[in-house]
Amino acid sequence: MAVDIDLHCQDLVRRFGSHTAVNQVSLEIPAGSFFSILGPSGCGKTTLLRLLAGFDRPDSGDIMIRGQRMNDVAPNHRPVNMVFQHLALFPTMSVGDNIAYGLKRRKVPTAERQRRIAEVLEQVGLAGMETRLPQQLSGGQRQRVALARCLVLKPTLLLLDEPLGALDLKLRDQMKVELKNLQKAFGTTFVYITHDQSEALVMSDRVAVMRDGRFDQVASPEALYREPATPFVASFVGDNNRLGGKLLARDGELAQVALADGRSVSGRLADSGHHPTPKIGDRAELFIRPESLVLGAAEPGHCTLTARVRATLFDGANSRVEVEAAGERCYVRLPQDGSVPAPQEGSSVTLAWEPQLARVFAAEAS
Ligand code: ATP
Repeated sequence: MAVDIDLHCQDLVRRFGSHTAVNQVSLEIPAGSFFSILGPSGCGKTTLLRLLAGFDRPDSGDIMIRGQRMNDVAPNHRPVNMVFQHLALFPTMSVGDNIAYGLKRRKVPTAERQRRIAEVLEQVGLAGMETRLPQQLSGGQRQRVALARCLVLKPTLLLLDEPLGALDLKLRDQMKVELKNLQKAFGTTFVYITHDQSEALVMSDRVAVMRDGRFDQVASPEALYREPATPFVASFVGDNNRLGGKLLARDGELAQVALADGRSVSGRLADSGHHPTPKIGDRAELFIRPESLVLGAAEPGHCTLTARVRATLFDGANSRVEVEAAGERCYVRLPQDGSVPAPQEGSSVTLAWEPQLARVFAAEAS
């Protein structure tokens, strides 16, 4: 069955002088999905979102929403709304009037307006709060008003520019789940930009990892985590240990890397087409997640590496051990059931891992 595509961008480019902020970006977002654009500060996320909203124009490339070319369509005529980090609610207007604003501008008749406001407030869990002023609401409630104000207009796309950035950590965690639930309940396509990988992983159906104006990888959160296509994705999404060396040998998809101290380790060669595949003798890097490392108990076929314990870091649910291995600082996550006791600081331990769980990439040019 064909999937409806709400947003299709083809080869979008936006330059500022000699700097290319958005560089040949193409993407397709299926209707009703939660799509995040994740990347560090300055990678071009806001520039891309502004192109989608129509606040800025691409130098080249096309923006299609439900098959209609949008390049020359003014922002207020696009089926798009945007939620900003600073929610921009009118402080002297009640919740109801804030939500009514866009409907009035669209000349929606009073009775229908009232009905839609009551309905959307119910949907976002704010029934009965219509007459309150924004200052009489909690941070989370203000968030929901900002969303309701956009969702009541039934946009095809809702663009969200780091809307949780101004909230404290606990509220941000709650709002992640709420936003995802609201997106599902409304069935509206969300395009969410963030530099926070945990927000992107928790909420999204698909995530584009952006760097220097380009997408390194577009995939589900699980695939980004398990099958990162580039060293940048491997280190930006989740925690990862990184061991550098030279590619020594290759056997099918397994690759052996000789570390600087002469020892060799193995992992699965990343061969995604997004990053050059290393040849024998090339500089290479092996990435392994802290939870994929086992202390002490190597099974047949596992890779091993001796390491020195620097510290044990207890942070509630998880304990991590910081070790030095082959001159690099690495982290090992201890099992939550306490089956592996935390090793002594300064002691020597063996790290073991299943080669299939490690990824080997050509080293990035520095
Ligand atoms: P952040 O997470 O910090 O908001 P971002 O990923 O959203 O960053 P952008 O704001 O899109 O990044 O900026 C991308 C690059 O384009 C930056 O180098 C920025 O300085 C540059 N840039 C953005 N807008 C303009 C502009 N109007 N004029 C000149 N350069 C700009």
